[in-house]
Amino acid sequence: MGVTRQKHAKKIMGFYKHNFQFREPFQVLLDGTFCQAALRNKIQIREQLPGYLGGATQLCTTRCVIKELESLGKALYGAKLIAQRFQVRSCSHHKNPDQELSKKVKRKPGIPLLFIIQNTMVLDKPSPKSLAFVQKLQTNQLVPEYQKQSIVELKEKEGLVKQEGEKRRKRKRAGGPNPLSCLKKKKKKTQEGQEPSAEKKKRRKRKRNRVKAEAMQSVQKNEGE
Ligand SMILES: [Zn+2]
Repeated sequence: MGVTRQKHAKKIMGFYKHNFQFREPFQVLLDGTFCQAALRNKIQIREQLPGYLGGATQLCTTRCVIKELESLGKALYGAKLIAQRFQVRSCSHHKNPDQELSKKVKRKPGIPLLFIIQNTMVLDKPSPKSLAFVQKLQTNQLVPEYQKQSIVELKEKEGLVKQEGEKRRKRKRAGGPNPLSCLKKKKKKTQEGQEPSAEKKKRRKRKRNRVKAEAMQSVQKNEGE
């Protein structure tokens, strides 16, 4: 049974590693309920969790979790001691932890949930949100970069880009105090239309230096051609 459970967890972690770039040490945020359940069920979080998740972990909690456990007094004293040993992170709510946290987590893709059910730690299967996100991602990846590029070329041909650029420029002058500060944030569309090509090249070069992701390199290459 233990082996099956572990295999299951390994598969789920594989999903997050592959689709959401999870890397060791896996950061695990522990709440008061989890600490209390671990204590009651004699689960040694620090010892058992890395084995279960299949990698080194970075255990942390929040200030509000500790405050809440403190406020609950004697009954939660042991759980408080456990929580205190983790890395304590500050959060936006200093009084009470977010009771809706697990619901909120489920609404965001890419965050696994870990419970203690029937004396054991159980990693929840990816939420529908996570699955939907990955599916969408995979669909988008099927639209290759050269297609996006050809859309830009088509627009240039039709003079659409220039028009858009002019429109943007007007708006910028009206609102922004420092046009230079806006340049970085602007979309590519605008740059194509209104700048001399030397400027454009410079900016591209700068952009290239900033980009680290390997995946982006092919995009840059396309742009250069
Ligand atoms: Zn908090």
